[in-house]
Amino acid sequence: MPVLLLLLGCTSRAPDAVLAYLRGADGYTIAPRPLPALVDPGTMSGTLGDVRHGGRLVGSDGEERYTGGRGLTVRYGLDERVAVPADQDGLLLFSFYAHLSDARDALAAQGVDLSPMFPVAIAWNPAVSPLLEVSPADNAAYAIGANLFLLLADGDDRDVPLLANAGVVSHELGHALFHLRMAGDPLAQAIVTDPASRAGMWQASLHEGFADALAALLLDDPRFLDASVTMPARDLDGTAILTEALLPDPDTLADSLLPIYDPYALGTVFASLVWDLRVATDDPEGTLALLLAAVDAWAPAEDADFDGERFLDALHTAAIDVGQQEIVCDAIAVRMDGLLGVEGCR
Ligand SMILES: [Zn+2]
Repeated sequence: MPVLLLLLGCTSRAPDAVLAYLRGADGYTIAPRPLPALVDPGTMSGTLGDVRHGGRLVGSDGEERYTGGRGLTVRYGLDERVAVPADQDGLLLFSFYAHLSDARDALAAQGVDLSPMFPVAIAWNPAVSPLLEVSPADNAAYAIGANLFLLLADGDDRDVPLLANAGVVSHELGHALFHLRMAGDPLAQAIVTDPASRAGMWQASLHEGFADALAALLLDDPRFLDASVTMPARDLDGTAILTEALLPDPDTLADSLLPIYDPYALGTVFASLVWDLRVATDDPEGTLALLLAAVDAWAPAEDADFDGERFLDALHTAAIDVGQQEIVCDAIAVRMDGLLGVEGCR
């Protein structure tokens, strides 16, 4: 055993690969993979950003900043130049970093520039204010305006922990991308600062919808959560259809015991609409290009612009030809059930 201890303590030569959760055609495996973006696995520092341990978000009302935190130490051994983490936390951190690297590279290959957000702040097990809309079940979150990924250890004994799910990581990156395309600056505060307003509810749901759509398109999987948790209500190839009750209404919040808006159901309707476009066109990359063109054209600058119908209008306008416009109109007709519509489709 002394040899093993030596290996764990002495890792001056950079490894060629790390052990991480890999997503393959038949699901996830734990296997070695190259990860050049992670320059030093022992401190989790690299070109995407350095992971800090602890720390907390300070400030409020969209002006949060990450502060504190200390350097992280990840114990690992070298097995034929593969960094093998000594514990589950290390495996989760390697996996998160690997999925983030893959998602960034996949977007770069499609001409999507995320460079303004990197290096990004990454916090492992930070103190999370109860006022921040991060539930302990989220495990991974992106704090808008702080340009920060929050990573929390997975309490549940899942086959694929949420942090190790490439779709979950892509979803969180989706929040960063959506914000960047709208605000132009990863450190700008959210466009709508009152989460309990109609525009704030739309903002939250369109954020979730965009993040789910991005993850599904990058992985070409409308049920990317399934590997970790079965949530049929979040399936993008399911029956998510708009209803009156889903339309944002601040009065419903005022009447509720816990005045926190749940953005996911409405978000899934929008993400499913985007998935319908991918199915109809059989073109995930073209669908992502259309989605981003719509976001850019819409680019809400003020609260009143943050509205699902305006977004649908931008989606229709961004369609590259009449054929794509018809596909957009068909998807709107199915998913919005007559409650939201676009002038050009009638
Ligand atoms: Zn989200």
